[in-house]
Amino acid sequence: MPRMRAVQVKEANGPFELVERDVPSPAPGQVLLKVQACGVCHSDVFTKTGAYPGMEFPRVPGHEVVGIIEKVGERVPDWREGQRVGVGWHGGHCGHCPSCRRGDFITCRYAQIPGISYDGGYADHMLAPFEALAAIPEELEAAEAAPLLCAGITTYNALRNSGVRAGDLLAVLGIGGLGHLGVQFAARMGCRTVAIARGADKQPLAEKLGAHHYIDSNAQDLAAELTKLGGARVILSTVTSSQAMTAALGGLGIDGRMIVVGASPDPIEVSPLLLIGGRRGIEGWPSGTSIDSEDTLAFSALTDIRPMIETMPLERAAEAYERMMSGEARFRMVITTGF
Ligand SMILES: [Zn+2]
Ligand SMILES: [Zn+2]
Repeated sequence: MPRMRAVQVKEANGPFELVERDVPSPAPGQVLLKVQACGVCHSDVFTKTGAYPGMEFPRVPGHEVVGIIEKVGERVPDWREGQRVGVGWHGGHCGHCPSCRRGDFITCRYAQIPGISYDGGYADHMLAPFEALAAIPEELEAAEAAPLLCAGITTYNALRNSGVRAGDLLAVLGIGGLGHLGVQFAARMGCRTVAIARGADKQPLAEKLGAHHYIDSNAQDLAAELTKLGGARVILSTVTSSQAMTAALGGLGIDGRMIVVGASPDPIEVSPLLLIGGRRGIEGWPSGTSIDSEDTLAFSALTDIRPMIETMPLERAAEAYERMMSGEARFRMVITTGF
């Protein structure tokens, strides 16, 4: 039986352990991937802490996976051995719940998530259901493509479904793992792009990513500055501080929307008066399905968008996770297997 390396969490809040396991075989509807790269996402905290409802241990984290199809199980249409594919947060859907019956697979009641519902990409090999696979364009390196499968798709898909049009004022709140991609997507989609971060030091980077304006939320009144620019049609909120989201809301223009993609359990505060008068709103956006991943990857290849990454080999996954959690990563940690 061929063996492989995997980094697992054995119990809630337990350490990451590098273990040896048998290479699994694909069941009907699944493929076996030889993992090349896996991004380290803040949502891996769900696996580490066991906070996701119904999680079982041991579990191998990782839902930004790029690999080569090594084996194709029975009843897998179209995909073949040797193809390079990605698997993101959308790791499979049931096909029979009310959402699936409406073709809305990302809100599937029984949605599967790699690294949470089944073992993910912190390993040499991984199984995935075929409906979760996205083809990867040749132009993208494996390690660069990985973060586009969660951080990338989330920001790209939120923006392209937000109703913004070329020339609209679009603000990206936070320049981190999500935000540094959000700024690139917004600028390439033709929006007048405002990057917002704490401190002046991120301004040159924001401009390099394509931002037309920069607001230092430590030194400036964020809402007032956005209003001076005409008010935002969309504020894409990538931060995890609900306080920062609250502070930005006053910068929404008429019909403005705050789209929340940075996850926090804390409430956002908003005055109903702000919402009513200018028909403003706050909404969330949950990544997307495998075809949305393909669109994200293709748009990134087309317009030369890349995540900024730091790579570490699989055996240093614990260190990569700690670096991501510390906020020091610039901007996305990616684990590589050497394949
Ligand atoms: Zn993620
Ligand atoms: Zn479903």
